Amino acid sequence: MKLTFYGAARTVTGSAHLLEVNGHSVLFDCGLHQGKRKEAFERNRNLQIPADTLDAVLLSHAHIDHSGNLPTLVKRGFRGTIYATSATCDLCSIMLPDSGHLHEQDVEFVNKKRARLGKTPFEPLYTVDEAKAVIPYFQDVSYEEPFKVDERTEVVYHDAGHILGAAMIEVRVDGGAGARRIVYSGDVGRAAQPILRDPWPLSPNDVLIMETTYGGRRHEGAQRIEEKLLPILRKAVAQRGKIVIPSFSVGRTQHLVYILHTLWKNGELPPMPVYVDSPLSVNATEVFRRHPECYDEETLALLARREDPFGFARLAYVRDIQESKALNDRPGPMVIISASGMCEGGRVLHHLAHAIGDARNTILIIGFQAEHTLGRQLVEKRPEVKIYGERHTVRAAVETINAFSAHADQQELLDWMAGAMGRLGMVFLVHGEETQSVAFLNELTARGVKNVIIPHEGQTWDL
Ligand SMILES: [Zn+2]
Repeated sequence: MKLTFYGAARTVTGSAHLLEVNGHSVLFDCGLHQGKRKEAFERNRNLQIPADTLDAVLLSHAHIDHSGNLPTLVKRGFRGTIYATSATCDLCSIMLPDSGHLHEQDVEFVNKKRARLGKTPFEPLYTVDEAKAVIPYFQDVSYEEPFKVDERTEVVYHDAGHILGAAMIEVRVDGGAGARRIVYSGDVGRAAQPILRDPWPLSPNDVLIMETTYGGRRHEGAQRIEEKLLPILRKAVAQRGKIVIPSFSVGRTQHLVYILHTLWKNGELPPMPVYVDSPLSVNATEVFRRHPECYDEETLALLARREDPFGFARLAYVRDIQESKALNDRPGPMVIISASGMCEGGRVLHHLAHAIGDARNTILIIGFQAEHTLGRQLVEKRPEVKIYGERHTVRAAVETINAFSAHADQQELLDWMAGAMGRLGMVFLVHGEETQSVAFLNELTARGVKNVIIPHEGQTWDL
């Protein structure tokens, strides 16, 4: 049995880990490397995975850093099966073409420059059509229902509690009592999150490949999101200001809507309209509605009472671009939830450009902002930022709520694996910046866990 790490090794993006066993090869995830544009582009394009001999992809969830390089894999000759939960298949069918669209836009911009310099144009990493070409390879699977990828290899998907459809993947080689068990954590979610069921508690295994995004960190204290959110909403109403919330379309937006819904239901939501303004967010929310099999009991109870977890009287979904622009001229108070989550593109940019210069307005950051992004500059309270190439003085208040994370923190990771502690074989720590993985390795070592490894990209292990 061999394991090779093609991505998310000592970093957080580009998840792809190849398992070779009994003459078959399966790939856990095929994510996009993200970061500095040129470097990421080269790494994504120069995919090292032997695509044409690969039998299957076991996809943990739809986030682009886990699924976003599947189109390149298919372009390189992959003709096997991509196994994923039904919700993940549906999310990928909107997210991959959206990603293709962004890649097309990306080169369009660079190619304009290159054309002026008389240089040959770049090809996009993949196009919308190439992204759509991936969809027929998907095969949907159900949580807790074992299936075979070959005669000797059985796979089970477990709840990850991370985003809709997210799974932890257990592979049992050679079945029966003597089976070797390999577990890939995907992204480990958090217990007691709204909408989704809690993560499956880890069971003993021979090989564990686990994420360590927050391997060295603890999330903000137990302060409820609502306690931080309400004063911001009230202030906006008092000042007739706008609140612009850059938000990831899948997961984060629905989580926020769920909380606003609860406030509204309890009569606590100050009188102001709420707009979700992003076509991808609107489409993703429809996918959420179609997959009650992923919901926790609380959300199912809402449905049973014929309440809509993703809607309420004061909330409007905006699909039309003219309607989106019309919000610019409408006076506050209002809440605008828009994408992209790190302010790197999308409609949130025109909302920011209009709102940023007015001290009555608030920009509310609710997600991780990577280095070099506009979102990060806002979090860092830069006095001036560039939007669409134009300088804007930041007069709006910038607030941050960190409690939305969909990733387990250090303690939550340890809690997740508590039942398997002492009965682990090899443990590979992936999907974390080096400092985070090292911190987690130290925690495990202190608890007597042996054979903990932080692999480097391209490394192969014979097991
Ligand atoms: Zn994820």
